[in-house]
Amino acid sequence: MRLTVLGCSGSVPGPDSPASGYLVQAGSASVTLDMGNGTLGALQRVLDPFDLDGVVLSHLHPDHCADVSGLIVYRRYHPSPPHRAALPLHGPYDTVERIRAAYATDVDDRIATDLSDVFDFRPLHERFSLGELEITAVRVDHPCEAYGLRVRHDGRTLVYTGDTGPCDQLDALAAGADVLLAEASWLHEGDRPPGIHLSGREAGETAARAGVGRLLLTHVPPWTDRQRVLAEAKGAFDGSVELVTAGAVYDV
Ligand SMILES: [Zn+2]
Ligand SMILES: [Zn+2]
Repeated sequence: MRLTVLGCSGSVPGPDSPASGYLVQAGSASVTLDMGNGTLGALQRVLDPFDLDGVVLSHLHPDHCADVSGLIVYRRYHPSPPHRAALPLHGPYDTVERIRAAYATDVDDRIATDLSDVFDFRPLHERFSLGELEITAVRVDHPCEAYGLRVRHDGRTLVYTGDTGPCDQLDALAAGADVLLAEASWLHEGDRPPGIHLSGREAGETAARAGVGRLLLTHVPPWTDRQRVLAEAKGAFDGSVELVTAGAVYDV
């Protein structure tokens, strides 16, 4: 399984990276986990957006889904599309309304906008497949309907936290994963409201409790010190830890 970081800047795009988006490829399947601001451009460096087999949205904050609007334009208005097949789009309960509201310009447009020519909307079931990828989605601890995702192929496992505070569901989802791609939005010091994000230390503690093989840190916002986040995580997890960057590729 190959993981390409399309964007890894937390909460907003940063000077060196789009917001959250990850391309996962295995066998003949190419699937994005999230499509935050700027990720559609980064995706085109790797493959034609018509070659995607699915999009999975962990939740509906803009930094995880804003570029789905661009994907609609790309697939609907391309002058010579290679095919017209609707793209499977898995997301939380309100995904259709959310994407429609982001895409349409006003009430009339929203009523008229039917996205079924572009997307095959599917709610996020606990287990589903996209091509050869087996995916498990579990509710995690964030202020909206949000999921952590476990992706399996050929005996290898990647777990993506999405956005979440520390929680038992995340520990269970990540248990024994070969790679944990964990958000680390905050430094551990100071006042941090519960149930929103992980600190670097909490990402490391989650990796340690889950016994993962490797920890990749992501979703660090532009206003947070990346090296201190990394140091926190290394202090809590003995295994391999690194901060991902836009464009980085990993074999899982
Ligand atoms: Zn986020
Ligand atoms: Zn969020």
